[in-house]
Amino acid sequence: MDCYNINIIDSSNIDYFLFTKKKCDILLNSLKETLSIYYELREFNAGYFDVCNDENKITACHNNIAVLDKEITKYEKEIRATEEQIILISKNIQHNCVHEFIEDYVDVDPERSEKIVYCQVCEYTKI
Ligand SMILES: [Zn+2]
Repeated sequence: MDCYNINIIDSSNIDYFLFTKKKCDILLNSLKETLSIYYELREFNAGYFDVCNDENKITACHNNIAVLDKEITKYEKEIRATEEQIILISKNIQHNCVHEFIEDYVDVDPERSEKIVYCQVCEYTKI
């Protein structure tokens, strides 16, 4: 899976960026989920490797760990690239959106709520 490297085709088309960001967020979650599976597999193989006393099994474990390390490196790189992509898209959205700010209240705890002001188009939140 390759990171979706966005080209700025039409920076005024906010819907284009909103759709792309939404899909990149889903892609990022999926990459993180896959990476966590590889971490678990690596940990499992490393644990198995520790209790192995058969030379063939040790070699197989060693090979598995090497394959998994390669995948882990690939996915870590992919996640970083996707995160950078999302930051770039978010900046474009924030810069090009004709914000329509609305006020809302969010619960910070059961007794207290806090007023927030956010854009209903791009969800940019004013601090
Ligand atoms: Zn906006």
